[in-house]
Amino acid sequence: MKEKQRIVVKIGSSTLTHAETGELDLERLEKLVRILTDWSNRGKEVVLVSSGAIAVGRKTMKLEERPKEKAVKQACAAIGQTRLMMVYQRLFAEYNKVPAQILMTKLTMVNDENRRNARATFSELLRMGVIPIVNENDTVVTDEIEFGDNDTLSAIVAALIHADLLILLSDIDGLYTDDPHKNPEATLVREVEYITEELEMMAKGAGSDVGTGGMATKIAAARIANDAGTDMVIANGENIGCLREILSGEPVGTLFYAHKNPRFHLIDYLLKPPTEKT
Ligand code: GLU
Repeated sequence: MKEKQRIVVKIGSSTLTHAETGELDLERLEKLVRILTDWSNRGKEVVLVSSGAIAVGRKTMKLEERPKEKAVKQACAAIGQTRLMMVYQRLFAEYNKVPAQILMTKLTMVNDENRRNARATFSELLRMGVIPIVNENDTVVTDEIEFGDNDTLSAIVAALIHADLLILLSDIDGLYTDDPHKNPEATLVREVEYITEELEMMAKGAGSDVGTGGMATKIAAARIANDAGTDMVIANGENIGCLREILSGEPVGTLFYAHKNPRFHLIDYLLKPPTEKT
């Protein structure tokens, strides 16, 4: 793990906000920014995939519930994304690190020229020592062309830029053999060599987080990442320090091993129907 050079970290809405109020958890974000900057200062190439646009927009507009209507969601995303970036910008500035914003849509990834262009932009930013912060361009996507969840998006990004490691920070410790909230016998799976159908079934039964992506979308993300040649770890973002532990090779969360498929074509995964949401 210490040797991993190009790393994508995904943080979900439930990890970057306080459960009680839905407001941003600044202490956690501060720690996240410090660790990512430190990795970048060590010469690693770091990409952050951050959710939270809709959650922050909703809070800003004082909406009681997560909006269901598309236009309201998209308006909230437009409001929240800039606020979120403002917070990241300020936190990274503390450490003299430059972040950049990349908003992606499935449509631009399906188009060969756009995809090549996106890859070149990532490469250039990473060469500059900048930390790209990625989200879906929620304000303009429609149901047919949305990634829908940032687990999938982060795996697509990892595949696009040939990352060595993808870390999904969630509100669950990793993949359990069953829903740990309901079954006290459920145990944490430490390592997954191959994603089998049986494992997929297990993930459907296991507990899911409160964001868009449940365990099923995380397994789908692992499939993309592993096929592309990227190792993936699901870990609990409650303790942001777990990022350091993961990179020191300590057993944290669930590790899905990469098996590069020589016939891997990102486009094949993009054209699949969106993963079932939980
Ligand atoms: N793109 C959404 C947002 O920023 C989050 C999607 C997800 O939770 O996976 O609000």
